[in-house]
Amino acid sequence: MSLGPGAVEYLAPKAQEALKAARVVVGYQTYITLITSLLTHQEVVATGMQGEVKRCQAAIDRARAGQWVALVSGGDAGIYGMAGLVLELCAVQGLKVGQVDSNDELDFSLEVIPGIPALTAGAALLGAPLMHDFAAISLSDLLTPWEIIQRRVEAAAQGDFVIVLYNPKSKKRDWQLKAVVELVLRYREPLTPVGLVRRARRAGEEIIVTTLEHLPKQPVDMQTIIIVGNSQSFQYGPYLVTPRGYLAKYQVGDQ
Ligand code: SAH
Repeated sequence: MSLGPGAVEYLAPKAQEALKAARVVVGYQTYITLITSLLTHQEVVATGMQGEVKRCQAAIDRARAGQWVALVSGGDAGIYGMAGLVLELCAVQGLKVGQVDSNDELDFSLEVIPGIPALTAGAALLGAPLMHDFAAISLSDLLTPWEIIQRRVEAAAQGDFVIVLYNPKSKKRDWQLKAVVELVLRYREPLTPVGLVRRARRAGEEIIVTTLEHLPKQPVDMQTIIIVGNSQSFQYGPYLVTPRGYLAKYQVGDQ
């Protein structure tokens, strides 16, 4: 299930219900910390970073044993989250899973509860940057070859998509963001507005609007999401706006 960006107000009521009903809560320690106030009676199984397979397997094993498990994932569980890995593991192990109200004979039932992903939490703080077609790309090359990431960034830049960059930088991955900026600059103006949101809806939240050419100099870490505007995006005060086209069609266009 999805935890949303951080603060409990941004956690869907359905997800809160699932947490309450759970006998076991499984998750990455940082996310468990975000929901301590909601953990009253549940057994907590917390694992460290890169313990993803172990964590999902632990959740599957508990569910097969008949326990109600909440496997928590930050943002939306279906966007670079744990939902996919759980289903992949079920597929590899030939487990029969289905919806909670299914009439089929199942190994266990499974429901993916959606949440607010960093891309909308961040976009809302920036104003309205995702009002037109956008592409989300993770810069983490731990599981995806760099050539594929590069190809996708280039295609998105060429297609004039607003580009959302997930996992932009970590201590070990420090050159990728600059390489991406250089690639996008082949198709987009240096003054293209760019928004950065660090720790959206968490303590220490920070919002920056800058330009594509100045992006490499900004403070960026693993809790930052970056939104690169398209050729029409503009900055208005502290906001980043991508026009949908209404004004051009109904006002300017009518004259
Ligand atoms: N499932 C999550 C994404 C997990 S990948 C979602 O739906 O948003 C982890 C990346 O998400 C981070 O490196 C960062 O780029 C972004 N992210 C997650 N939460 C964030 C937050 N509160 N503020 C800014 N970026 C965040």
